[in-house]
Amino acid sequence: MTSLPTPHGPLALPAFLPDATRGAVRAVDAAELRAVGIDALCVNTWHLSKEPGARAVEKLGGIHRFMGFDGPVLSDSGGFQVLSLLASGALDGSASNKGIRWRPKGGESELLTPEKCVRWQAKLGADLLVCLDHCTRPEESADAQRISVDHTVRWAEECKTTRDRVAEESGVRRPLLAVIQGGDDPALRRECAARLFEIGFDGYAFGGWPVRDDGGLVESVALVAQLVRDATKGAAPLWGLGIGKPENLVAAEQLGYSLFDCVLPTRDGRHGRLYVKRGAPAPKLLPGDARWWDHLYLGDQKHAVADEPIEPGCPCPTCTRHSRGYLHHLWQVKDPLVLRLASLHNLSFYGRLMRELQAARAAAATT
Ligand SMILES: [Zn+2]
Repeated sequence: MTSLPTPHGPLALPAFLPDATRGAVRAVDAAELRAVGIDALCVNTWHLSKEPGARAVEKLGGIHRFMGFDGPVLSDSGGFQVLSLLASGALDGSASNKGIRWRPKGGESELLTPEKCVRWQAKLGADLLVCLDHCTRPEESADAQRISVDHTVRWAEECKTTRDRVAEESGVRRPLLAVIQGGDDPALRRECAARLFEIGFDGYAFGGWPVRDDGGLVESVALVAQLVRDATKGAAPLWGLGIGKPENLVAAEQLGYSLFDCVLPTRDGRHGRLYVKRGAPAPKLLPGDARWWDHLYLGDQKHAVADEPIEPGCPCPTCTRHSRGYLHHLWQVKDPLVLRLASLHNLSFYGRLMRELQAARAAAATT
């Protein structure tokens, strides 16, 4: 598919959605995203439900007005964040068929249910909703992977029932994506996918840990793509949760993934690591091959009197207005402006990558 209809207009595919976890793409005004080729973004339901609260966002006009962004917004369930905090010991609690029970140190116990999760996402006013799922690490036991799949399917069923109920109440039917778990066990991945296909969702996502220790994609990323393609005939969007390195985006897109979110471009920008295409003219995008891009480190002394832009030819506001030398200076004096300028360039790198992949996909669809 080359585009996805959403309540905030069609979204060209593939699309990269920067993480606006708490309602902000860090250091960047949402109004600047379109100018660097970013059409949509991803917020986190659990974090926003804590601060300022889904009801507060609703009262402030919904997530689009709250952030000042008029493009499609996907709301991640937040299950991953709660489970990560449980695993790290930062929160007490556990997962069950009912949902995820958690308790802050010295605080009251709360239960994140699938119903609550979808109702919060609807209150936020997101365009694309995501089922609560039970994410595991690949090294967890076979029993843990089995429990994760059972929870994921049960919760997804309740999420869909709630989404349908909310649609009846509000008159707005929002697409709902289900997450396919199963760790590194192909049989469990197949089972999880089959059970979710039977319930039927508007889209699917790869859940778990998509990247191997050597930086490439794990085999189950390809398996999930194949299962979704076979079941939906390519008519449902597939989200590559956590796939973020440029060469992995290209590889996953070629497998059939259409939606990506990752903190990499903005986090790297804030750490002075900028993405720059190698060679000229535009080198071929090779999946699994990092040779077509490099990191440029703003702190390197060699940039002190460099007059060229970060990436010659880049149309972003940073490259069209400023030299490497100026950005190096901002970095050295720790001026917060550098965080914004570096993040904008990195988002532009990802935005241009998506435009190239969109053009190739659209061309393939017409031949
Ligand atoms: Zn740039």
